Amino acid sequence: MTLLCASILVRDPAQARRDLALAAEAGAEIVELRLDRITDPAALTPVMDRAGVPCVLTCRPTWEGGESALDDAERLRMLESLASGRGGYVDVELKTVQRVDGSALPASASLIISAHDFAGRPERLNNLLLEMDRSPATVQKIVWTARTIRDNLEAFEILRARRKPMIAFCMGEAGIISRVLAKKFGSFLTFATIRADAATAPGQLTLDELKSLYRWDAIGPNTRVYGVVADPVMHSMSPAIHNAAFDAAGFDGVYLPMRVEGSYESFKAFMESFLHAEGLDFSGLSVTIPHKENALRYLSERGDEVEPLARRIGAVNTIIVDRSPRRIALRGINTDYAAILDSITSALQIGRDDLKDRRVAVLGAGGTGRTAVAALAHCGATVVVYNRTLERAKALSKKFNGKSGKVVAAPMEKLCGSCCDIYLNTTSVGMHPKVDQSAFGVAPPKLTSGSLVFDTVYNPMKTLLLKQAEQAGAATISGVEMFVRQAAAQFEAWTNLKAPMTVMREVIERRLGS
Ligand code: NAP
Repeated sequence: MTLLCASILVRDPAQARRDLALAAEAGAEIVELRLDRITDPAALTPVMDRAGVPCVLTCRPTWEGGESALDDAERLRMLESLASGRGGYVDVELKTVQRVDGSALPASASLIISAHDFAGRPERLNNLLLEMDRSPATVQKIVWTARTIRDNLEAFEILRARRKPMIAFCMGEAGIISRVLAKKFGSFLTFATIRADAATAPGQLTLDELKSLYRWDAIGPNTRVYGVVADPVMHSMSPAIHNAAFDAAGFDGVYLPMRVEGSYESFKAFMESFLHAEGLDFSGLSVTIPHKENALRYLSERGDEVEPLARRIGAVNTIIVDRSPRRIALRGINTDYAAILDSITSALQIGRDDLKDRRVAVLGAGGTGRTAVAALAHCGATVVVYNRTLERAKALSKKFNGKSGKVVAAPMEKLCGSCCDIYLNTTSVGMHPKVDQSAFGVAPPKLTSGSLVFDTVYNPMKTLLLKQAEQAGAATISGVEMFVRQAAAQFEAWTNLKAPMTVMREVIERRLGS
């Protein structure tokens, strides 16, 4: 069992008492009291007496990333005085253990012996582990700052190879997955904070994030691992929607943010290491900016299956990993295009074939514009691409014109004279924080009650563009619809279960509404 440990930087007894109560209420099973700033340990005795949860006492010196300027003997004396008669754990740095006499180590509590590297992977990682083996540790702890997401895999290997209780994880944004998957790999504990502004180390999640967002209570040794690969990634709402869907369906999976820097080489290195990581059960990916083209190239080079329209669009946004004892087979699909088509056909209550009778204005010629144009043209629609940079619109129309439907390009200034049935905004105009902008600009096209306006922007849920459309009596589709549909299709591709779309929609609407 992996304990959920709240780490609390103690400033004074009253604050420690409050934070201990908050930690217990939020589900912490053990609490680390960081005593770096404490000069009068006796004042903490009443707090310790009523802690209510087991404690790890730590007084981290400045030379190991903490704040305490006390020397080894003073720190060890303080730890022993507070542990005496109470048991629990004390955390002492390996370097301290190596230079003091064994009799100076706290005897009243179990020893966690730790090594931290805030700069990156310790050069002496393997030696440190050997030295810990020779130390009197009850629990060994090794922590470093992840340079890339791949560093986490070494922490998992250390946990898998442990001979005694072990804590091994990576700090920083790239290390977040090791804090969550600590439970899958049987770490002794994982650290969390009661509030984001009270974190005691980089990348520490809140107790609430671990439990509510990352399914802490449901994670076990066989939990399958999914994620969104992007750069940047922490703004993504995909972990919220997919973990809620796994929860609702009772599916044994967890979905994590995976930041991978933009180059093809980085993407390939990430895939190769994660696919083959022992015990990880890496089972699927959402792929977004800047990796959709990288994903297509990677699957093509491996000779894996890519859905034909994803290939034509030039972008894969979903990877399904099929593990058989003989080989790992991957499949690449694009759930964005189906989400765009299904959002439109369900709003109009028509079939995809009926789109051949519709004229659609696609605003934008970036990645989403390209996906929309390919999908609509594939169904035989007549598409007019309006874009700020006309050359991009022309290139797009040239690529997809005549495949099934007709595609032409037009300058944005001509939009006001357009007479389409459907207006689909794929530009980022109107997106938070620039919510007072509309992709229609100052001169919207003439809309009627028969028009449909679809904004792929989902933050805010109701953009200025959608408000203008409503005022003109047109029907509207918000970007949330597309976001939920593309995620639901990913969920179904990974799990073979029906996606709990109502739950998924509620999660996103709640997040966007708050
Ligand atoms: P992208 O490849 O960078 O393309 C951006 C497009 O917006 C380009 O056509 C660009 O025109 C245009 N644009 C940007 N700023 C503009 C401005 N100030 N005035 C006029 N046009 C402007 O981005 P993308 O990946 O296609 O994403 C675009 C948007 O789609 C995102 O912002 C997101 O809100 C939305 N989206 C939604 C979902 C969903 O599930 N709902 C999924 C994916 C994307 P130029 O060619 O002239 O630069």
